[in-house]
Amino acid sequence: MRIANLSGRLALVVKGGAIDVAQASADRFSADPQAVFDRWEEFCDWASKAELPEPVAFAPDELGPPAPAPRQTFAIGLNYRDHASESGFKAPDGLPPVFTKFVTSISGPVTRVQLPEGGNTDWEIELVAVIGGRAQGVSQAEAWGHVAGLAVGQDISERVSQLAGPAPQFSLGKSHPGFAPIGPWLVTPDEFEDPDDIELRCSVNGEEVQKGRTRDLIFSVTALISRLSAVLPLLPGDVIFTGTPAGVGMGRDPRRFLAPGDELISTAEGIGELRQTFIA
Ligand code: ZN
Repeated sequence: MRIANLSGRLALVVKGGAIDVAQASADRFSADPQAVFDRWEEFCDWASKAELPEPVAFAPDELGPPAPAPRQTFAIGLNYRDHASESGFKAPDGLPPVFTKFVTSISGPVTRVQLPEGGNTDWEIELVAVIGGRAQGVSQAEAWGHVAGLAVGQDISERVSQLAGPAPQFSLGKSHPGFAPIGPWLVTPDEFEDPDDIELRCSVNGEEVQKGRTRDLIFSVTALISRLSAVLPLLPGDVIFTGTPAGVGMGRDPRRFLAPGDELISTAEGIGELRQTFIA
């Protein structure tokens, strides 16, 4: 199953078109895309049995983020060995760095993003997992059962502020408006041949800059849910940015950052793509 946020309303994506959930369910389920995660099991049950109307065509720029207002967003640093190495860090052996992307940075899949003045703005394609049922003290074996779905994410990062000061400012430097696009929709884990092995690619102006596979995550989606939920509860609709593979601008020689007019396309196998254009 695929669900989307179409012009602010929860939709099922079927055969490339959209079905409005509030209308199709006679208002049993709210149009609010974030509200569905609180009733995730009930919603999946309804969606699997409902007699649905014909889907309606839509354009990608009508989509918003499939989880627009999570109560908690977790982002994971240094979760691929090749990216830890290009960043000049040792790969973590305990829990990797965990930070947040503040909720106002979350956007839909097709956007224009303003570059912060005086900054070095960089790309990080990531697999994003959205929590379905509340997870607390969950074992790794149980963890996929707490995932509503997967989406493509971009952990856009302003490196000057991220790395300034006596301690790094990961959360602020990665939370400018539009710095957390998610989409284009949410795909349930059962749709993947192997949800632990998804190819991620990212290109700038048509030139491929990142290519990796989630099987190379140091902490897999299920390991992250288990480790995080041992510390605090993960709530329905929470978002996890799982980390980026190698190929970010800061790790290149020479270093390269986003400039006005650049187009960033981020793709995950079996999910779809994000498209960001940068402006001064
Ligand atoms: Zn990241």
